[in-house]
Amino acid sequence: MRLTILGSSGSVPAPGNPASGYMINSPDSPSLIMDMGPGVLASLQEIQDPSDAHVTFSHLHTDHCADFASLLVWRRFHPTKAAKSRNLLFGPQDTPNRLGRLSSDEPEGVDDMSDTFAFDAWKERQPLLIDKFTVTPFRVVHPIETYALRVEEHNTGATVTYSGDSAYTEALIDAARGADIFLCEATWGASCDGKAPGMHMCAQDAGKLAAAAGVKKLVITHIPPWVEADTAVAAAAQYFDGPIELARPGMHFDI
Ligand SMILES: [Zn+2]
Ligand SMILES: [Zn+2]
Repeated sequence: MRLTILGSSGSVPAPGNPASGYMINSPDSPSLIMDMGPGVLASLQEIQDPSDAHVTFSHLHTDHCADFASLLVWRRFHPTKAAKSRNLLFGPQDTPNRLGRLSSDEPEGVDDMSDTFAFDAWKERQPLLIDKFTVTPFRVVHPIETYALRVEEHNTGATVTYSGDSAYTEALIDAARGADIFLCEATWGASCDGKAPGMHMCAQDAGKLAAAAGVKKLVITHIPPWVEADTAVAAAAQYFDGPIELARPGMHFDI
């Protein structure tokens, strides 16, 4: 299994770094994309045919889904690489309506995307089979319906957990338990001091969760361009003594 960072910037894209986008690959299977923030389709084009992928969304804040409208244009209208068949799409219940509005020609219209994607909604902690993976969504704490995603490769057992956007919650310990990689947001940077509750985490939180879940590696992500990122790894290392890296665009991890 390979995890590729398509974009790791938090809340907005940054120069040279799209907003949230992550991809998981297993040989001889369509890719599995987790979130498509602004700029992610450009990163994806550098690596593979964007049509050859299933798409999942942790939640529908703009920094996690805005480039999906671009993907629909690619899949339908690319002169030589348009999608030949439907792929799978998973997300919160309201995904077809929210994203359909984003790509409709009419001000109040909803683009029907069922010509190119087959959609199913996440159900709390119900595992779903997506080709060579089992994906289990865990509801987390954020102002809108949001899920952490635990992705397990069938033939190897390799496991990646992505936190989505969330405040600290023990649901993330369940989601990440024993994972090879825990890809965890740390929007606030090193410390949570003075930050709003119920929205996001800091790197100290990420370290605490990684230790409690017994993960093998922590990868910190979703740091906005206005937040100091370089101190985040040391802050997480106060609580987690395994390997820690800061997600950067183009990085990949083989498990
Ligand atoms: Zn976000
Ligand atoms: Zn969010």
